[in-house]
Amino acid sequence: MTTQHIGIAGAGLAGRTLAWRLLRAGRRVSLFDSRHRADLDTASLTAAAMLSPLAELAVSDDVVFALGQRSMQLWPRWIAELEASGGQSVYFRQRGTLVVAHAPDQASLEHFTRLLHHKLPEASRAQVHTLTSASLAEHEPALAGRFGGGLFLDSEGQLANDQWMAALATEIDRLGGRWHEGLTVERVEAQRMVCADGVHAVDVAVDARGVGSKAQWPQLRGVRGEVMTVECHGVTLQRPVRLMHPRYQIYVAPRPGHQFVVGATELESEDLGPVTLRSTLELGSALHSLHPAFGEARVLRLAAALRPALDDHRPAVALRDGVWHINGLYRHGYLCAPAVVDELAQKLLGTQVKLGIEEEVT
Ligand SMILES: Cc1cc2nc3c(=O)[nH]c(=O)nc-3n(C[C@H](O)[C@H](O)[C@H](O)COP(=O)(O)OP(=O)(O)OC[C@H]3O[C@@H](n4cnc5c(N)ncnc54)[C@H](O)[C@@H]3O)c2cc1C
Repeated sequence: MTTQHIGIAGAGLAGRTLAWRLLRAGRRVSLFDSRHRADLDTASLTAAAMLSPLAELAVSDDVVFALGQRSMQLWPRWIAELEASGGQSVYFRQRGTLVVAHAPDQASLEHFTRLLHHKLPEASRAQVHTLTSASLAEHEPALAGRFGGGLFLDSEGQLANDQWMAALATEIDRLGGRWHEGLTVERVEAQRMVCADGVHAVDVAVDARGVGSKAQWPQLRGVRGEVMTVECHGVTLQRPVRLMHPRYQIYVAPRPGHQFVVGATELESEDLGPVTLRSTLELGSALHSLHPAFGEARVLRLAAALRPALDDHRPAVALRDGVWHINGLYRHGYLCAPAVVDELAQKLLGTQVKLGIEEEVT
């Protein structure tokens, strides 16, 4: 019996994670990506990788929430599996999220709190805790005396996405995955990858090119996001902090090595140019307003990338014209990836799970 050969166009978060699950299950996998594996200019390697099913509910819906809840169970298992086989560690924390607002912006925090209670299923409301100034200081001593109170969302987490993506690459190599780096896929067709160097035959074709799939899925659009990464030794945070603001929400996610990812802007634009001065000022001033010691932070990276989005802002797994698609991860790629990838992997491996995300069989 020959082993089924699955070709995956796009080695971002979706394509790379799927490749790993299929290789683990004994499938033959070829990955095709126009970039090299460590290229930072993708959504997957620009993201802050916050895992925030609750906080994101303010801008998402019950489908994303359910995918996020399921993914929060899968992340620790998948990271443990990856670490056990490859030996590379992946920074993952599940210490909750703090949500705060400066005094003039209290109305934004109050509205956010009401929205959360309105949208959260009853059974999940216990994950939201109102903090006084004193209990906020107990959770995050660096913020003592800086805010009159806040919210604590106790089940949320975060991941170092650069470590996840690098560990996956190592493991895909170890499991014998074939990786065509720097090769543009012009079209994905049933059982064929039409590439710049010719046609590659596969048994099953998967399109995971993010916004790069737009020619084959016109409803896709790119939503620009910008982040700033700083190094600062003067502040220690245990968990991500979201700062409410009438015009935008900014989050600060701590990373290993005294680094912090500050993000993110959200612009209806497919511009892939460098981060603007305006965005740099907004991200930087929000960070500085969280704690003045951030004034001495060293700016390590300013980056912009496009989030692949569909109109309903939900991730989608779809079979169209003989090609499997996994796309539309929008601003919830890390939040939802394990559940969405697992759904597609189970379909490809012949064991079905149904999570209620889009599926068109044509
Ligand atoms: C600023 C920012 C912050 C974010 N923060 C978070 C967060 O905190 N939490 C969260 O859950 N999500 C976050 N996200 C969203 C998350 O990053 C995305 O949902 C996710 O990375 C999408 O992954 P993907 O694999 O579908 O797409 P991509 O990362 O875009 O990967 C697509 C891959 O396909 C390749 N490709 C494209 N076209 C072609 C072609 N023609 N031929 C071959 N290869 C091709 C690309 O090179 C790339 O490697 C953020 C995104 C941004 C931009």
